[in-house]
Amino acid sequence: MVIDHIPVSALIRDEIQSALERRSLPHAVLFAGQDGGAQLPLALFAAKSLLCNKPIEGLACGVCSACMKVDKSIHPDLSLSFPVPASRETAENAIEEWREMMDSRSFLGLADWYEKLEAGDLKMNISAKEIHRIEKNIRYKSFEGVGKVLLIWLPEFLGGEGNKLLKSIEEPPPGTHIFLVTNEVNKILPTIISRCRVIRIPRPGPSALSSWLTGVKGFRETEAVNAVAVSEGNVNVALRQLEGENQLQIDRDFITWSRIAFSGDPAGVLDFIDEFLKAGDRESARNLFRFGLFYFNQVLLKKINVQQEGLRDELSASAGKMASFLSVSAIEQICESFEKYLVQIDRNASVKVLLTYATVQLGRDLRVALKRSRENARA
Ligand SMILES: [Zn+2]
Repeated sequence: MVIDHIPVSALIRDEIQSALERRSLPHAVLFAGQDGGAQLPLALFAAKSLLCNKPIEGLACGVCSACMKVDKSIHPDLSLSFPVPASRETAENAIEEWREMMDSRSFLGLADWYEKLEAGDLKMNISAKEIHRIEKNIRYKSFEGVGKVLLIWLPEFLGGEGNKLLKSIEEPPPGTHIFLVTNEVNKILPTIISRCRVIRIPRPGPSALSSWLTGVKGFRETEAVNAVAVSEGNVNVALRQLEGENQLQIDRDFITWSRIAFSGDPAGVLDFIDEFLKAGDRESARNLFRFGLFYFNQVLLKKINVQQEGLRDELSASAGKMASFLSVSAIEQICESFEKYLVQIDRNASVKVLLTYATVQLGRDLRVALKRSRENARA
């Protein structure tokens, strides 16, 4: 992956790019993002640039043997460390699975990792034994003579053992960089954080993610918008949606759902819910609410005349109609309800009950807003 193909803001890209160009990247960097963000691809790109045989203005050339080896996670000067279940003891015993994962998914999420290792509800960690292994590794001389990188994915799994790494983080052996790539910076020991340059990497916003999915990954725009709407900026979730089978219906399902809700016809509502839940499960309902939140945010933008991006024609027309009679406060109220449903869906035993309630409530909100808007027009 070249740096322009990583979905991060230009600001972050420039910061890393110019540090690499000037060869001034600090020796200990904490790449801090959220699950499904671009922190891992970015850290790997930085590692590749440092180990590349023929860097171009400090950046990985992408084609030399060193770059290839980093891409395949087989470069002898790149030590990789990550959490594993106790039975594996060290990351070395799961490196094959890691390589397979990285082949297919460079935005690796913790859930994917659990699934890959078939870890179920086992506890994972980065153990004292693993720390001993990586400490030993970074003391070896560089094989290829260019430098060395230790990349620790999810250092939040170090727990208290992290203190054993402080000395190395503070003063790595010459020519060695230590990259920590976290999804939960608040779980990392403050003693570690204070010894690193922290680069915060927020998830890409809707329009950045949408243009990445179409421009870099080549998905069609309508598909990309659906994926963006349900992913909340989680690149991994967006990609999984696009690779799945029936996910791309969500915009149509949503339009149908909101029409039925608006009609208020009880039999129609129940029929829709039965049909909808037949095809899916809790995740489908979650996607419906996520899409709803995205959609009403677009309605809000339309209402306040902000240029909106990514809605295809049918949806854009529908959002325009909604904006014509919904007040700003009514839209905000609907968005708040959707946020509440998204919290409740993980707690609520019955998806059907929640979805029924949400349908009735949405219908009522829409009809009340329409009535008010007509009264205001007459007044
Ligand atoms: Zn190279």
